[in-house]
Amino acid sequence: MIFLHTLIIGGGFGGLTAAALLAKTGHDVTLVEASSEWGGCAGKFRRRDTLFPVGATLGMGFERGGLHERVLRLLGKKVPVRLLDEVMTIHFPSGSIPYYRDREKHLASLCDCFPHAASRIRAFYSELRAIAASIRRLMKPLPALPPKTAGEWAYLFSSLRPEHIKLAPFGRKTLMDRLCAHGLEKETAFVRLLDGQLIDSMQTTSRHVSYLMAATALDIYHEGAYYVEGGLYRAAEVLAESIRENGGAVKKNRRIVSIKRNSGWTAVDQRGNEYHAEHIIFNGAIQQLPSLTPELSGKHRVMAGTPTWVTHTLYLTLNNADLPLSFPLFQQISADSMSEGSHLFMSVSAPDDRLRAPEGKRTMTVSTHSSPDCWSSKKQYDAYKPALTEKMLSLIETVYPNFRKAILAAETGAPKAWERYTLRPGGFVGGFPQTAGHALFGSLSHRTGLPNLWVCGDSIFPGGGTIGATASGIHCARSIAPGLFEL
Ligand SMILES: Cc1cc2nc3c(=O)[nH]c(=O)nc-3n(C[C@H](O)[C@H](O)[C@H](O)COP(=O)(O)OP(=O)(O)OC[C@H]3O[C@@H](n4cnc5c(N)ncnc54)[C@H](O)[C@@H]3O)c2cc1C
Repeated sequence: MIFLHTLIIGGGFGGLTAAALLAKTGHDVTLVEASSEWGGCAGKFRRRDTLFPVGATLGMGFERGGLHERVLRLLGKKVPVRLLDEVMTIHFPSGSIPYYRDREKHLASLCDCFPHAASRIRAFYSELRAIAASIRRLMKPLPALPPKTAGEWAYLFSSLRPEHIKLAPFGRKTLMDRLCAHGLEKETAFVRLLDGQLIDSMQTTSRHVSYLMAATALDIYHEGAYYVEGGLYRAAEVLAESIRENGGAVKKNRRIVSIKRNSGWTAVDQRGNEYHAEHIIFNGAIQQLPSLTPELSGKHRVMAGTPTWVTHTLYLTLNNADLPLSFPLFQQISADSMSEGSHLFMSVSAPDDRLRAPEGKRTMTVSTHSSPDCWSSKKQYDAYKPALTEKMLSLIETVYPNFRKAILAAETGAPKAWERYTLRPGGFVGGFPQTAGHALFGSLSHRTGLPNLWVCGDSIFPGGGTIGATASGIHCARSIAPGLFEL
């Protein structure tokens, strides 16, 4: 039996951040990870001389004051990143536009694209940006939502400024409510452009997404979006290194199979090793937790039974010489819907990124949202996988007709692969859609309601993405070690 203060289950961004902060404050921590890689959905895998990001590729929060930067600065660590002036190129049926980091340039290009709606688009963005800036100031001290203790309420109130009163009327609004208010709801191509951004970051589209969350998501790339040399896994590896340097233990290939409450908590891994800890932080998807402990109850239990999107991913090795001269690092292609191969997010390695591929080759990760219902029986699964792969490749060919010629090797990541490698039941990824009802005060707290059993990751407030998972890891660490670190 191993006795420790805090056991962290899972080496995704949430768990690694919580463990690194606790280790930095001198806590006795052990982090166990089921796989042989750090980073979970933002991890990597190798194939011969090439390396692929599993899922997450686009880095945010590395700018001065951004969340990853604040954590890395506190830990005294650095990750090599390249700031993108053109964050991505968005292809939609009637054309392509670059997404510029510069706010004014981006707005001007949108207005050029939709000249008849330019003044309404300007008014809409003027409101949206003011809202996003106000939320950023509110969230900077990282209040935990929904507040569960007097201390969390007090902290939230101390984060509030008079300007935040203006956010209240928008609290239950969707983005579509505001598009209607600005007379933009019938601008189908413009709305689709926004939906493409939202499905990837908020897991839902304008009709349902919380306006406050949408404003944040639609503005975040302007704060800074980054290409990470090698991939986001490098930030995860740096966090693991920091845990070790500060005296914590990190163990790969240890899958926790049960958690029991006694004088503290006892977790057991697949090899039968027992870890007795005062605190446990669980960083897997919330849907897994009931299989580890039957004690989970309340809203956490309800959400643990709630499916989310799954994804189908293509991992392609490309011959650089067969790619068009202009082939942006990050691209979205949208056709007639936002899922099932009609909307893709594509990330290709930089031509000079030798961590990803040798000279002349590049690696690319392409993903699409999919409904779990499309994969429910074995027969359906086996038929859908090649059909969806083909649909995705065909959509790429609508923009790059000779694309297949550049493919040297291809692999797919269907929901079962995601389940196997990230232990996400059903292959559920991305966290819960940030709808007006489920975002912010409607989110899941990092407090499970069970004493000293904490949860972090993209199922937990504030939600998906490496920044969201990191924020929930900070909330866990801050609850266990109040006042011991300041970001
Ligand atoms: C296709 C795709 C593309 C994405 N693109 C981006 C992007 O460009 N930018 C971005 O910021 N975000 C992106 N995201 C979202 C982002 O990857 C995730 O939201 C984030 O990485 C989730 O972090 P997490 O802390 O919740 O942990 P996870 O990444 O889910 O990691 C959890 C870890 O815990 C381990 N684990 C689980 N259960 C156990 C157990 N019982 N015992 C031991 N270990 C366990 C798992 O093996 C895993 O390594 C993308 C997601 C997907 C699916």
